[in-house]
Amino acid sequence: MLLPAPVPAVARRAVAVESSPVREILALTARPEVITFAGGLPAPELFDVEGIRSAYDRVLAESPWRALQYSTTEGDEGLRSAIADRTTARGLPTGAGDLLITTGSQQALTLLTTALLEPGDVVLVEDPCYLAALQCFGFAGARLVPVPTDDEGLDPVALEEIAARERPKLLYLVPTFQNPTGRTLPEARRVAVAEAAARHGFWIVEDDPYGELRYDGEHVPWIASVPAAADRAVLLGSFSKIMAPGMRLGFLRAPEALLRSCVIAKQAADLHTSTIDQAAAAYYLRDSDLDAHVRVIRAAYRERRDAMLQGLPEALPPGSRWNRPEGGMFVWAALPEGYDASELLRVAVEHEVAYVPGAPFFVGAPDPSAMRLSFTTHSPEEIAEGLRRLAKAFE
Ligand code: PMP
Repeated sequence: MLLPAPVPAVARRAVAVESSPVREILALTARPEVITFAGGLPAPELFDVEGIRSAYDRVLAESPWRALQYSTTEGDEGLRSAIADRTTARGLPTGAGDLLITTGSQQALTLLTTALLEPGDVVLVEDPCYLAALQCFGFAGARLVPVPTDDEGLDPVALEEIAARERPKLLYLVPTFQNPTGRTLPEARRVAVAEAAARHGFWIVEDDPYGELRYDGEHVPWIASVPAAADRAVLLGSFSKIMAPGMRLGFLRAPEALLRSCVIAKQAADLHTSTIDQAAAAYYLRDSDLDAHVRVIRAAYRERRDAMLQGLPEALPPGSRWNRPEGGMFVWAALPEGYDASELLRVAVEHEVAYVPGAPFFVGAPDPSAMRLSFTTHSPEEIAEGLRRLAKAFE
C-alpha cells in the first residue's frame, strides 16, 4: 500500500510570528462579570447606529448595482475626496489621488511591508510598540530594532544614533495618543524625526488612528506635514475609532511611487475594500455630521479617562506611576519595583477585573511592572468599581 508523503510544513515565518498575547488575554476576560480595562475597543453604545443604518439604506436604495459590484482598487471616489478634504482641513494639503482606501489601517501596514521590505531589512519601532504592527513586520522577515522612549514618546537623540548605526528602511510610530502608552510626541521631536529620516534616508510610517480623540491640549501637526518628510512620510488613518471598526475602513496617504506599489500590493491582497462599506461611509460623510459625532465620543471618553485618573491613586500600590494622556484610549502605568504585572493579572481576573500587562509590547528589554489600562468601554461608575477591585487584587 502506498504511504502518503507528509504534507509540506507551513512557512518558517508562519511559525516564527506568534498569536498576540493581548488577544489571548481578551479571550480570558470575556466573562460579562469582568470589568475589563484590557481591550482597545471603542464604546459600542456610542456607535451612531441610526446614522450608519440610514447611510447603508440610501446606498442600497439609490445605487445598489454600483454598491454591490466590484470596484477600483484605489477606492470610492466620494470617500477619497471626503478624506482628502478632512486631511487638508487638519493641516496637510491632500488630494483624492494621494490616497488609497484600505481594509482598516491594519491592511495599510501589510501593504507597506509588501511594497517596501526585503527579508532582513531593519525596521525601527518605538519601544513599547503597537503589537499587530510587530506581527506584520515579523511576517515580512524584517529585523526589528527598538528605539527607546520616555514620557514624551520616541527619544530623537537615540533615534539619530540608532539610525546612523542600523541603516533602517523605515521607522514605524504612533505619534499621537500611542498604543499602548497614550503618549503624544511633541512638535519639536516630530521635526527631529522628519530631519533624521531625511538625513539617514528612511521611510516614516506615521500611524494615526487616535488623533481625533483629543480631550485637552492643542492639536500637534502630523510628521507628514513637516517639509523635510514630504517625500518619505506615509500617513495611515482609520474610521475604526471615530465611526465603527466593523466597517474595516482605513486609508493610506503616500508619495506617488510608493502609493502605486501599495495599490498593486492591494490588488493581489483583496482587489479592493468592500464597495458597499466605502459607499456607506461616503454617504455618511456627506449627509451626517461626523465631527458632531466625534464630539460626542470625545466628551464621553474624557469623562471616562478622568474617572480612571481619579481612581488610580487608590487602586495601585504606593510608589506606582502613571501618565495623563491628553486623548486616545489608554493610560500607561508602572507598578513599584518588584511587582510583575503579568503574574498579577491572574489575581486581578479572580477579582473580576482585567488589564493588559505591558511586557508583550516591548521589542527590547520588557518592563515587567508596566500595564496598559483602557478607559473607553465602561461608564465612570464601572471604572470606579473596576479600580476598587484592582485595589483588592493588589492588596
Ligand atoms: N494602528 C494602531 C496603533 C492601532 O491601535 C490599531 C487598532 N487598535 C490599528 C492600527 C488597526 O486599526 P484598524 O485596522 O481597525 O484601522
